Amino acid sequence: MNKKSILLLAFPLLMGWMASAQSVYKNQDLEITKLEDHLWVFETTDKTTMYLIEGEKKAMLIDTGTKCEKLNEVVRAITKKPLVVLLTHMHGDHAGNIDQFGEIWFHPADTVLLKNGKPYQGKIHFVADNQIFDLGKKKLQIIHMPAHTPGSIVVLDHAAGNCFSGDAFGSGQVWLQLKPYAPIKTYISSLVRMETLMDMGITKIYCGHYPYVKKAYDRSYIQTMLKLAKSLDDGTARNAVPFDRKVSIGCEHPMILTEGVASIVYDPEHLKY
Ligand SMILES: [Zn+2]
Ligand SMILES: [Zn+2]
Repeated sequence: MNKKSILLLAFPLLMGWMASAQSVYKNQDLEITKLEDHLWVFETTDKTTMYLIEGEKKAMLIDTGTKCEKLNEVVRAITKKPLVVLLTHMHGDHAGNIDQFGEIWFHPADTVLLKNGKPYQGKIHFVADNQIFDLGKKKLQIIHMPAHTPGSIVVLDHAAGNCFSGDAFGSGQVWLQLKPYAPIKTYISSLVRMETLMDMGITKIYCGHYPYVKKAYDRSYIQTMLKLAKSLDDGTARNAVPFDRKVSIGCEHPMILTEGVASIVYDPEHLKY
């Protein structure tokens, strides 16, 4: 294929991408792109992610990133509607700017992760499994998906077929080697539940670190994760190798098991509890 035909091929693809994903805001910390009607993704320079979903009456901000100056005002550049701030889990890369908001929602099982940080001064609301947030012609459902953290949740927009998954299934790589450990069976249960939700019409999984992926995952990602998790549980996993990331991640000798674009990082000493 010559250069000209490559260009001819690439141009409509590029235009198609631009039509579906439009950058609408940028500052030194983050860029906001419109993904779908009433849905935006915020990508920070350090690769954390927030999603903003707008209904007729309210809007929801899913996660609050790391260091984003005046995040509250940045959100206001996109929507002026009353804001529900919801955290998929309480890791610092998802809950970094909660002090900019007067009220937050998260799952109570993640309060164990709060004790290390400085206390949040605003009002805390706990979400429950299956809870519905009605934003006005936009209903969002919370599903508890523990494993990455005890209180990890995903947010479902059934009408749009969307799931916002935080780190519950990773962004290519799910981290299960962190304290407090969950048995691999907990992760398997969450994956099985996610598969069932995909039977019911969820088609797109928007993960918690979108800059690494730049698209929504489909069912095959969950199926591959499930296959890997089951092989760890029944002892048939053969291709795991030491995970050599040089940062402190909670356990001494983490391992990584990979197939295609899906990997599980785990502590071999804590697979069963
Ligand atoms: Zn996390
Ligand atoms: Zn994360």
